[in-house]
Amino acid sequence: MHTFFLPAEAWHEPYQVTGTEARHLVSVLRIKRGDTVRLIDGLGREGIFTVCETGKRHASLTPETIVIHKRPPGITLAIGYGRGLRRGWLLEKAVELEAAGVWFWQADRSQGNVPEESKETWLSQMLAGAKQTGNPWLPGLATLPGGVDELIMKRDGFDKRFVLWEGAAQGAILSLEDLTPAANVLFALGPEGGFSEREITRLTQADFTPVSLGNRILRWETAAMLCLGLAWWARQQETMP
Ligand code: SAH
Repeated sequence: MHTFFLPAEAWHEPYQVTGTEARHLVSVLRIKRGDTVRLIDGLGREGIFTVCETGKRHASLTPETIVIHKRPPGITLAIGYGRGLRRGWLLEKAVELEAAGVWFWQADRSQGNVPEESKETWLSQMLAGAKQTGNPWLPGLATLPGGVDELIMKRDGFDKRFVLWEGAAQGAILSLEDLTPAANVLFALGPEGGFSEREITRLTQADFTPVSLGNRILRWETAAMLCLGLAWWARQQETMP
């Protein structure tokens, strides 16, 4: 069954999918009257709908079932902002691997300035992951132009906080115990250029535990995805029979 995005504010009668989602539904996938589709709003709502009428730019739908999924605890990645080469890819993987949040913060070694707020394109990149897996929850997106100090100000509300430090040779290696599925965990990652000494000092003083992912230095998107993958796998261990 195909999945489409319907923004939270549009979840009322008459249910209509419009814009690019409608074009994809009607023209690309040629879904017709009588077919059933899944709609998600990115905030935990998921519904099964029957298409009752289609036009060039819209599709009208009748709800069959609507459920609201509680937001599960999960991993929030705070990634030092950098060139966008792989950002869209990481955002899509973040949805597939059920990240609770993805933040981009202005690091000392960031290339370019993080935008004041998250970009429209980031939402569409996350939707690609949501449509692929049917995940009804999109990660919370945030941009932190205030640097490591703003990141530290946002550290409350997490059960654990780690700084993934490529220089944490003396630090412990990240362990599966650190990724307990029922916990909200915040991971701070540096930008492509890595953390500055100042940032590492500030983060460790603010109760972020430095952990290593191993003795090779990975690209930021590899370290980010590895974190999400380990946490996802730990959760599957808990839920799979
Ligand atoms: N330019 C830096 C590497 C930065 S990699 C250098 O060459 O030293 C980008 C980020 O990925 C790092 O800041 C860190 O957060 C994470 N990372 C990469 N490899 C890691 C590892 N082995 N252990 C922990 N974090 C790692």
